[in-house]
Amino acid sequence: MTAPHPFAPRISGALKRIAPSQTTAMTDRATQLRAEGRDIISLSVGEPDFDTPAHVVAAMKDALDAGQTRYTPVGGTAAMKRAAALHFARDLALDVPVSQITVSAGGKQAIFHALLATVNPGDEVVIPAPWWVSYPEIVRFAGGEVVPLPTRPEHDFRFTAGQLEAAITPRTRWLLLNSPGNPTGAVFPAADLLAIGDVLDRHPQVMVMSDDIYAPLIYTGERHATLAALRPDLADRVLTVSGVSKSHAMTGLRIGVATGPEWLVRAMEKLQSHSSGNPASISQAGAVAAFEGPQDFLADWRETFRRRRDLVVARVNAIPGLSTPLPQGAFYCFVDADPLIGGAIADDAALALHLLEHGVAVVAASAFGGDHCGLAGFRISFAASEATLNEALDRIERAVGALEKTR
Ligand code: GLU
Repeated sequence: MTAPHPFAPRISGALKRIAPSQTTAMTDRATQLRAEGRDIISLSVGEPDFDTPAHVVAAMKDALDAGQTRYTPVGGTAAMKRAAALHFARDLALDVPVSQITVSAGGKQAIFHALLATVNPGDEVVIPAPWWVSYPEIVRFAGGEVVPLPTRPEHDFRFTAGQLEAAITPRTRWLLLNSPGNPTGAVFPAADLLAIGDVLDRHPQVMVMSDDIYAPLIYTGERHATLAALRPDLADRVLTVSGVSKSHAMTGLRIGVATGPEWLVRAMEKLQSHSSGNPASISQAGAVAAFEGPQDFLADWRETFRRRRDLVVARVNAIPGLSTPLPQGAFYCFVDADPLIGGAIADDAALALHLLEHGVAVVAASAFGGDHCGLAGFRISFAASEATLNEALDRIERAVGALEKTR
């Protein structure tokens, strides 16, 4: 009798190509350490610490009471798509019909589905680095090749049209744009986007993913600019992604909205019909209220974030070995800690662990492709109170001081 084969775990080739999300991994680790009684300040995840607006919460309670707990259309209810159309027109200057809008479980799912629906093995996707952790992993999962477009703090983490031109090949399928950007807070003004548009004119095979999730959070006083609005003639190859997670403190409710050419939106919904189905019905009711209700609180939130940014930047730059430029948007500060790397601290992942030992959770720069830009350090999310940020910076200062002593 032959022995039966023992069971062995079998992971797909696609999954083996990707790494876990470092933003969520570090945040889960911080939560776990806290549950074990450790005093950890988590500046690892990007989510506003404000309460979800009361009118949004009320709309979700009403939806529950009205029994809105059943399936909805895969790409969102008619009311949800109308509310998203209002948002795109009012906040991003994009007048689009509901047929060109789809709604998903967070912006992340919209990006995931769009890339999976369009990237073939060997296709290239140009991603400005430092990048949000999930972009390259989704591209690799789809079988595509990541082409990094390195940027530097001394240029406010913006790439040039010339750099983009040099990165594009006949195999380039997408350019991923994220302004205001995670993890650097880089903001691409209209002039930069127009120059990018000129490059795209010469390369009709390239589509653009414009991730505008941080659009309300710009500290320069300038209005947010987005490619599809500036260059409507290119809109048939731009997917613009937005949502309520950052603008309305609704991260856990998972609603993302996207608009682009109808063929792409339908392709994304085809995939969504087999992955999650519709985004949560109650969350959709909340997102309708978020887009249709008052937006005036956003000015206060922005001002609060701006003060926190100034505090964090001033304190980081006062710590020997650490430096950061002033982020122009979003709520992240990308800290260069290169002078601290070496010896006991072999790389920035080790530095992040050292900071965790001192009670602060941050995410290493390498998780965001910082190594492609010659940068080692970490990202701080400053979506926390000034008191919390000050305490976290005290701890970071002590942690860096402890390193100095061992060097
Ligand atoms: N986008 C946020 C961040 O970068 C949330 C976590 C995630 O999805 O990566 O922290």
